[in-house]
Amino acid sequence: MGKGWTVQTLIDGKMKLTAFCHVSSCNHSKTLDLEMLKTKLGPDAPAMADDLTPKLRCERCGSKKVGLIYAPDPRKMSGMGQ
Ligand SMILES: [Zn+2]
Repeated sequence: MGKGWTVQTLIDGKMKLTAFCHVSSCNHSKTLDLEMLKTKLGPDAPAMADDLTPKLRCERCGSKKVGLIYAPDPRKMSGMGQ
C-alpha cells in the first residue's frame, strides 16, 4: 500500500469508509461519501484515519472523538467468480 491511502485509492479499491462516534452515549455511525470527499479534498488527499479524523466531527453530538472503519464495499464488488 506504500506510504498511505488517498481518497482515490479508496475509490479505486471499492472501499467503504464508515465514521463512528467514540462517545458511548451517542454511538452514531455514518458511511462517508468518498465522491464528496474527492470533490472537497481532491483525489490525492491522504485518506488514512490519522489524516481524516481531525477533519471529522460527529454530526449528532458534535464530538471530535470520531473513528474510522475501512472495509470493502460489498455493493460495489462484482460477483465473485460468477
Ligand atoms: Zn456522537
